[in-house]
Amino acid sequence: MPTPVTAVLLDVEGTTSSISFVHDQMFPYARRHLGDYLMEHWGQTELLETLELLAVDAGQPSAEVWLGDLPVADQPHRVIEVVEQWMAQDRKATGLKQLQGQIWQAGFESQQLVAHVWPDVSPALRQWQQAGIDIRIYSSGSIAAQKLFFGHTEVGNLLDCFSGHYDTTSGGKKESQSYRNIADDWRIDPQQVLFVSDVVEELEAAAEAGLRVLLSCRPGNPPQDPRFPCLRVENFHAITPWLG
Ligand SMILES: [Mg+2]
Repeated sequence: MPTPVTAVLLDVEGTTSSISFVHDQMFPYARRHLGDYLMEHWGQTELLETLELLAVDAGQPSAEVWLGDLPVADQPHRVIEVVEQWMAQDRKATGLKQLQGQIWQAGFESQQLVAHVWPDVSPALRQWQQAGIDIRIYSSGSIAAQKLFFGHTEVGNLLDCFSGHYDTTSGGKKESQSYRNIADDWRIDPQQVLFVSDVVEELEAAAEAGLRVLLSCRPGNPPQDPRFPCLRVENFHAITPWLG
């Protein structure tokens, strides 16, 4: 008898939600609101901390050294100029990520941003939850960003569906060790976990760590390498028969 699946680990982009929402709405939103956000929050505590991280991203020891030679009125403009450049280059720097997260937070909280989830997701999650399935998220977006995202979706707050969140602090999504780390933290036998993602390299890594895997095939997902043989699902209802 194979071990029954009692837990589901879900990717976000291309699985619970469209890749396009993140790329065509969230990132452009952060770019559009960068200037206003910095001007409005300049001098506030939450931004001071981010500025220190941005200074490190810029190769400077501190924000004071980075901006200190500029008149105060010019400082936000220098930051805007530099960050706009990083955003255009899609840099994955710590300060940049934190700043984007803060801009998104303001966007989600003012309901200018509302996260996309495919229509089958919420009913399936509720059904699994009632059946006692433990559902968690693993995304390259930070845990804070995941919570913002699922706290503000088109169908309301879905956060109570999840009993855990993992991001790249557990390791990269294409490394099998990350899935071992997650199973350790979860205190679960990897074979009890079904991982669903739209990227075959991630499934390969998870399968190597002993997890069961399904490939998510959503509209707009890029085609995957057919050499990796895996079962495909087009929506979350198709996942349900694999559980329990
Ligand atoms: Mg994905």
